[in-house]
Amino acid sequence: MDFKQYITVVEDFPKEGIRFKDITTLMENGEIYKKAIDDMANFAKEKDVDVIVGPEARGFVVGCPISYALGIGFVPVRKAGKLPREVLEVDYGLEYGKDSLNIHKDAIKPGQNVLITDDLLATGGTIEATIKMVETLGGKVVGIAFMIELGYLDGRDKLKNYDVFSLVTY
Ligand code: AMP
Repeated sequence: MDFKQYITVVEDFPKEGIRFKDITTLMENGEIYKKAIDDMANFAKEKDVDVIVGPEARGFVVGCPISYALGIGFVPVRKAGKLPREVLEVDYGLEYGKDSLNIHKDAIKPGQNVLITDDLLATGGTIEATIKMVETLGGKVVGIAFMIELGYLDGRDKLKNYDVFSLVTY
């Protein structure tokens, strides 16, 4: 399946020089969105995953339907100030900016097998921070699944020690 034809590349968004991969056009097509999620869920099925962790907002778009498909839980990673209970906070860098991410401290139980999901791997900063949170809480990252990988940014170098799956690579 050629998922690329359903992803729109927007030049210079959100700032000059960024070629933004817009997955909303893929999500608008129910059949294709389902196929994409099914492929990612198939990767997850081989991993004995206990729980899925995904950063806002597009990590939810990918992670929640996989968690539904597998009948397992989903743990949100959010920007600072959004989660209501005690959080673990980690700083991270983006392809276009800097921020910090939070996770509920009690969301991952020590020893749980975790699949991390996001829409897109760029520099890998977001996922590196997410891995750090999962591991600090005692979880084991058994896989990381993306819809899109930007091969030219070498984000995968940061994820050498993990099993990384992506549907399409640019
Ligand atoms: P990074 O931490 O650099 O791997 O950035 C990953 C996050 O930023 C992903 O969750 C994407 O949602 C977003 N992102 C970064 N670069 C792009 C891009 N070129 N197109 C669309 N989203 C992007």
